[in-house]
Amino acid sequence: MLKTVRDFKDLEGKRVLLRCDFNVPVNKDGDILDDTRIVQALPTIRYLVEHNAKVIICSHLGRPKGYDKYLSLLPVAVHLMKYFPDKMRFCDKTIGPEAQKSVENVQNGEILLLENTRFDPREEENDPSFVQELASFGDVFVNDAFGTAHRKHASTYGVALKLPSAIGLLIEKEIKVIDEAINYPKHPFVAIFGGAKVGDKLILLHNIIKKADTILVGGGMAYTFLLAQGHNIGNSIVSLDLVNDAKNILCEAEQNNVKIVLPVDHVALEESTGAIYKTTQLEDGFAGLDIGNKTVALFKKEIAKASQILWNGPLGKFEDSRFKKGTFKIAKAIAKSDAYTLVGGGDSLNAVKSCGVDKKISYLSTGGGASLKLLAGQGLPALEVIDQI
Ligand code: ADP
Ligand code: MG
Repeated sequence: MLKTVRDFKDLEGKRVLLRCDFNVPVNKDGDILDDTRIVQALPTIRYLVEHNAKVIICSHLGRPKGYDKYLSLLPVAVHLMKYFPDKMRFCDKTIGPEAQKSVENVQNGEILLLENTRFDPREEENDPSFVQELASFGDVFVNDAFGTAHRKHASTYGVALKLPSAIGLLIEKEIKVIDEAINYPKHPFVAIFGGAKVGDKLILLHNIIKKADTILVGGGMAYTFLLAQGHNIGNSIVSLDLVNDAKNILCEAEQNNVKIVLPVDHVALEESTGAIYKTTQLEDGFAGLDIGNKTVALFKKEIAKASQILWNGPLGKFEDSRFKKGTFKIAKAIAKSDAYTLVGGGDSLNAVKSCGVDKKISYLSTGGGASLKLLAGQGLPALEVIDQI
């Protein structure tokens, strides 16, 4: 079992290097547009403050190429000040003499946030000199950055090999929720997949097919399956190299007695004229960009029977308001359900939030790629280097 922050005894006065995922959307005025990831990090930070540790936090934000003032973590430090008014400090360097000085000045129960780790290219290279210096800021290391747990970077991977290490309370919860949902599901278990990353999602499907009772496939994913069944998919998004894999999944489903439901109608864009049609047939020149009403009804019927629902991947190109209806209707149906509901995936979370039902979902897994890997039954590199108990 992975060691958790609660397994560290005697944190008083210890320097705890804490990796958080503060990769939040910030606009040019420094306003944080969605603070979910900061709020999620609070339990571990509070735990460390209450145990009188010296809390040294590092995180990345965005994908800077060198220093970028719009990707500074200063707005995050300001935001954290609301929760820890007289305990919060910020250093505008990640490593180096100034950062070291700031670390030395941290008192018991205080928090120091270091500047964006990705301002230094050595972070993503997991460079030994960067690892060494960052690790020197802590007596122990706690990783609570679930969103980057699938990356082997200096602050997620390298430092864990240098210091006694543990996971934080957020990662602990994410692992527990996903493990329970996948390995001990409530039946009937309905899984809903959509989105565009067909390759990633097929790996996931191979795992879920052994656990779910019904799988609903929509969005960009559906067309690879429809083609595998011999349907005409017009100009819809497709992964031709995965058609065979889709065929195998359809066979596997039959063998496992799992029902796979595919779209029976579509909202299609005629690419040459820009006209939009509701159709059951996708002729050449037409791209299916949303599921149609009949499909929504079919999916809702299955959702109504579920005791557990897992949803990953929007059911249409929902960013375009002409193609958002299917995704939003299904999101609302999931929210209304009495089943245990779990939603994962960056775009899926956006969809749930933009139609205002995020509070009605039992669990939102915020890890993006990391959530998908766990759901697919794969390990996460940053967790493989955490100490075991
Ligand atoms: P998530 O981030 O939730 O895991 P993905 O990244 O796999 O989901 O997919 C989200 C993207 O899929 C969205 O940008 C959406 O526009 C796109 N998408 C969904 N359905 C379709 C479709 N029918 N055609 C083209 N793109 C689609
Ligand atoms: Mg995505």
